[in-house]
Amino acid sequence: MSVIFQPCDCVYCVKHRFPLLWELEPGVAWFEIPKNGSFSVKEKYPKRILISGDAYSDQYSLDRDARCIVVLRDPVDRFLSMYRHYFMATGARFKAGARFMGRINLIGGDRLQSVIDNLHELSTAEEVHHFRPQCSFVDRVAHYRYQLIGMSGLSKLLGVDRLNTTDGASATISSDQVAQIKTIYRSDYEFFDEFNFSA
Ligand SMILES: [Zn+2]
Repeated sequence: MSVIFQPCDCVYCVKHRFPLLWELEPGVAWFEIPKNGSFSVKEKYPKRILISGDAYSDQYSLDRDARCIVVLRDPVDRFLSMYRHYFMATGARFKAGARFMGRINLIGGDRLQSVIDNLHELSTAEEVHHFRPQCSFVDRVAHYRYQLIGMSGLSKLLGVDRLNTTDGASATISSDQVAQIKTIYRSDYEFFDEFNFSA
């Protein structure tokens, strides 16, 4: 099962083009991956400079030795967090999730399974870019000096105890569904393997 996600023309994607690389401070840069603590990073570094990702960033260049932080989460955890965010009544984006369920007739039955089966239907209205694999937010062509860190590493970097990554109640998930999600996000696991990273 491979999912082709629809293009996203949300306000953010129209303004910027992923992958987005920001210089946080001299010698330290960061690839913005939605839902991976990006809000907290932005809060901590309000004066960050956009290095790549839009038409105006060409005038800046990154120091060759700069390390580029990539914050990664376990793909199943991340997916479930997104699921809660959009598709459970306590989630912050439940309105958009409910509209989506109405639009494509996902009423009743196993909601999580319906969402997994219909990821290709997600569109700009749901800001589908949030659901793309994490590795798609990293520029692999430029061969930066990557530093892969997990969410606990990010907490340490930001000097906070723990980042709030939960969004309401937990979802019940079967081992079959875990396997399906792992297949959908196979590229992320390959990316992890390439760097000997475990989330
Ligand atoms: Zn978008």
